Amino acid sequence: MAGRFRPLCTRKREGSVAESAVGSSRLAWAEVDLDAIAANCSVLAGLARPAALCAVVKAGAYGHGAVPVARAALAGGATWLAVALVEEGIALREAGVEAPILLLSEPPPEVMEAAAAGDLTPTVYTAGGIEAARKAAAAVPGGAPLRVHVKVDTGMHRVGADPDDVLAVALAVDDAAELHLEGLWTHLAAADEPHHDEFTAGQLRRFAEVRHRLAATGIRPDLVHAANSSALLAHPGARNNLVRCGITAYGYPPSPALAGRAELRPAMSLKAGVSFVRRLSAGERVSYGLQYQLDADSVVATVPLGYADGVPRRFSAMGGQALIGGRRLPIAGRVTMDQLLVDCGPDSGVAAGDEVVLLGRQGDERIDAAEWAERLGTVPYEILCAISTRVPRRYLGGGS
Ligand SMILES: *Cc1c(COP(=O)(O)O)cnc(C)c1O
Repeated sequence: MAGRFRPLCTRKREGSVAESAVGSSRLAWAEVDLDAIAANCSVLAGLARPAALCAVVKAGAYGHGAVPVARAALAGGATWLAVALVEEGIALREAGVEAPILLLSEPPPEVMEAAAAGDLTPTVYTAGGIEAARKAAAAVPGGAPLRVHVKVDTGMHRVGADPDDVLAVALAVDDAAELHLEGLWTHLAAADEPHHDEFTAGQLRRFAEVRHRLAATGIRPDLVHAANSSALLAHPGARNNLVRCGITAYGYPPSPALAGRAELRPAMSLKAGVSFVRRLSAGERVSYGLQYQLDADSVVATVPLGYADGVPRRFSAMGGQALIGGRRLPIAGRVTMDQLLVDCGPDSGVAAGDEVVLLGRQGDERIDAAEWAERLGTVPYEILCAISTRVPRRYLGGGS
């Protein structure tokens, strides 16, 4: 029997998706619930208190959209923001965000002046970085010293000053009239894994030693921070007076081991409208490589989302599912660049325009990024960041 073809957006029916996504020629979008972001941040700020909450909004707020998320996080009780790149911080400033913004790595010297001009707070840990920060501060009119945070590498070995060198780094900042040493911080490598608790304790011990060494020479930065989401949930001693939370703000525990430690709500859903429907016979195979074979007659729905949008190509082989009509249904065959197929079963009444949920809730069913991550052998962080900018974001709620 021939498939029923219905062009996009020509019809609406009960439970179907209304019209095309904003500015997009296809019916596929990510919904971001800003009230969930604000509520999550409020929970995290409550846990952190009296430490302050820094919402980490790097990588487009883990794919959720940096500007609206930053506003929602601040409304929810965050008082700091953090980003990876100078351009990420500048984009927030250009949107009118006024909260302090920490750069999580030392910016390359070429962009230090842009960082200073954008009133961003650089992290520094090398002589070259300190020199660039001094020059940048001197070049920016206004005269106020540029606030910087010194990062110590206590064991992750990604970036930061060696604990044995950090006193010299801190003194170099302290000696520079153009700079103000506002913060001292470190990052934990395995705070999400209870079997590494001893390692985490060692990192925190080294960090405390560094602090004491600085204090002995009269250097006591206002802000001291070590905790990410995991440490906030699992290592209260790491909180100091600022905690840097990313994944929890978006509604996910940092690892399955820390699930249930805080009341969090996933903020992002990934949805589409069915674009095409075919009734196929038992034995037919679908998509590239013909790896998915129907063992009975079935209705197969096409969904306009693919691996270029962040749905991994191997998702079907890993047991990936989608929600249509309130039911969990298997993704059929390889995910292609722009489209994927869903096996809706022999009795399905699925029609073009029907809502498909890849991430999020439909009826009583829910699929979240932690489920994807488990199937795909990764973490929700990677799933969320991978939802590409080609997918339009629709914002729900005001975040206040
Ligand atoms: C990304 C990042 C964070 C946030 O980590 P989560 O696990 O998402 O809370 C905190 N600190 C640093 C240095 C980071 O790079």
